[in-house]
Amino acid sequence: MSAFVARPVAAIAALKAYDPGHDLPALRQRFAAGALTELGSNENPLGPARAVLDALHGMPVAELLRYPDPMGLGLRRDLASSLGVDPAQVVLGNGSHELLMLLAQCFAGPGDEVVFSEFGFAVYSIGTAAVGATPRRVGAHPRTGAAPRGHDLGALAAAIGPRTRLVYLANPNNPTGTWFSRAKLSEFLRAVDPGVPVVVDEAYHEYVDDPEVGNAVALLPAHPNLIVTRTFSKGYALAGLRVGYAVADPSVIEVVNRLRESFNVNALGLALARLALKDNQHLARVREFNRTQRSRMAHAFEQRGLFVHPSMTNFILVDFERPAAAIEAAWLECGVVVRPMGGYGLPTCLRISIGSEAENRRLIETLDAVLA
Ligand SMILES: *Cc1c(COP(=O)(O)O)cnc(C)c1O
Repeated sequence: MSAFVARPVAAIAALKAYDPGHDLPALRQRFAAGALTELGSNENPLGPARAVLDALHGMPVAELLRYPDPMGLGLRRDLASSLGVDPAQVVLGNGSHELLMLLAQCFAGPGDEVVFSEFGFAVYSIGTAAVGATPRRVGAHPRTGAAPRGHDLGALAAAIGPRTRLVYLANPNNPTGTWFSRAKLSEFLRAVDPGVPVVVDEAYHEYVDDPEVGNAVALLPAHPNLIVTRTFSKGYALAGLRVGYAVADPSVIEVVNRLRESFNVNALGLALARLALKDNQHLARVREFNRTQRSRMAHAFEQRGLFVHPSMTNFILVDFERPAAAIEAAWLECGVVVRPMGGYGLPTCLRISIGSEAENRRLIETLDAVLA
């Protein structure tokens, strides 16, 4: 090794890399095929629609040897028509993670503030730090009895000041699983300076089954500073392909396009996401399966007197009311991967994805042993 030490700019020097929770490739080697139960990353155990798999097998070689469409027009048109917006209001990302980072780069810099909840998704603080902006982490509603931790929209609105250049807000939220109604979001947006871009991250939109919750796209005409991000990673079960999108005013999309890498969404992603988007029946099955399994999972914890945050997502956040690291480690010994929450300041909690029936059974079967 040379004595060379890379010296990044100040903002990056202070930054820690995104924590995936575990070294999954190493765990997959350690446990025999099928013996590892992966419930740490909120993936969709049912997999994508049949048409997606068929198209994957029949993918023409030209799709691989040519560069993909840098504008992703086919997928953007399909998304726009399903959302009732113009294609000029849609930009695609290499997962919505990329878009969340790009939005920070476009709108915030040193001396600016970025506002988000203390239980905001980890990427919000990375995006903020990457551009040298100052994070304003806003306290969430604390857990009191049966009331879950959740965003305090009043406090978030109050934290927005003259230096605020960006707001990140997930609905439903990861890692708490909690949500707020569209009426509450509308009230929040009316309280915010219309010059401040507000990113509403709807990564779990496809799992929402209350028509009054989510679909912030409906508020775009009234609020051109609103930016809605979504993804094919969760409900559409295409996390490995890396396709996300943002819906916003055309002027916002135009700014993001200046910085976006031309071929940020690959050819397979562009083609397969279009097919995934078409199959509403599959999506309905995914939602129904998730709802049933989630309530079964939640029940198993509640029966043992543990607190489960209500969830409109494909995961639950369980509060063990004691340090959860030992529980998590015991699960890992059984080959069950869940997500530790210490990084979010929730050391007594674990986030558990809703897996396949067999995976969920495995988790519940091992529950008493890991609690002991
Ligand atoms: C999973 C997730 C995302 C991003 O996922 P991508 O795979 O990058 O599209 C964004 N926000 C939240 C809150 C998430 O949980």
